[in-house]
Amino acid sequence: MTTVQVPRTAWNKGKTGLQHHSLETRTKISSKLKGMKRSPETRAKMSKAVAEVWRSGKRPRFRSIETRAKVSRSLIGRPVSAETRHKMSLARMGWKPSIETRVKMSMLRKGKSRKALTSETKARISRATKGKKRSFVTRLSLSRIIKEKWQDPNYREKMVQHLRSIRKCGPLHHAWKGGISHKPYPPQFTRRLRDSIRKRDQYRCQWCGTAQSELQRRLHVHHRDSNKENNNLDNLISLCYSCHHKKDVQAYFYRTLPIISN
Ligand SMILES: [Zn+2]
Repeated sequence: MTTVQVPRTAWNKGKTGLQHHSLETRTKISSKLKGMKRSPETRAKMSKAVAEVWRSGKRPRFRSIETRAKVSRSLIGRPVSAETRHKMSLARMGWKPSIETRVKMSMLRKGKSRKALTSETKARISRATKGKKRSFVTRLSLSRIIKEKWQDPNYREKMVQHLRSIRKCGPLHHAWKGGISHKPYPPQFTRRLRDSIRKRDQYRCQWCGTAQSELQRRLHVHHRDSNKENNNLDNLISLCYSCHHKKDVQAYFYRTLPIISN
């Protein structure tokens, strides 16, 4: 009895290691693998193997720029679980893209409309940026952007509304006196009266002492109780333009107003 040795061909034709396939073969393999469902165990095994390569310090197989672009394209828009997103976020924490990367990112974003942020996200961004120090260059460019935006009357109106609502300017402000700052001065508040006050105050700002001759303009004559109708001499005081606009200076002269004045 003779046994016939049938020469068996190994599944890999006896070849070991990485194979250099032709483009045709690679395309065939690729199309066959596309959409292939792998069991969770297999996926875990693959993931472990890849992680092992990274951990060992050995970079995975070199990929050409074209391949990397292809991989990247195929991954765009792939649904990512919340868990994975969180992991990605942790991995990126403290990551600083190089100038080149930032330019590239900016170019990709250009012309694309951004999804409207939820108020929750806005609050989160606001919390994260609060108190953050910005470089001079950044501040300059931000200023330029805002100046440009400010030219748009719609934007301006919106911003003024917003500022009014958060800073409580106008009627909502605790010190609102009914818009008196826009009321005209009464006829008693004459040029002659104002000059007499300046002369009484020896032509000096009664807060900082700057002489009128050092200023580009006359000293302001301030109503200490902020009532333009009260032109009692005690209620009037000379202040330079700069000091007149300081709330604490105004408050000081209001506090120290002689009680006898009516
Ligand atoms: Zn002054």
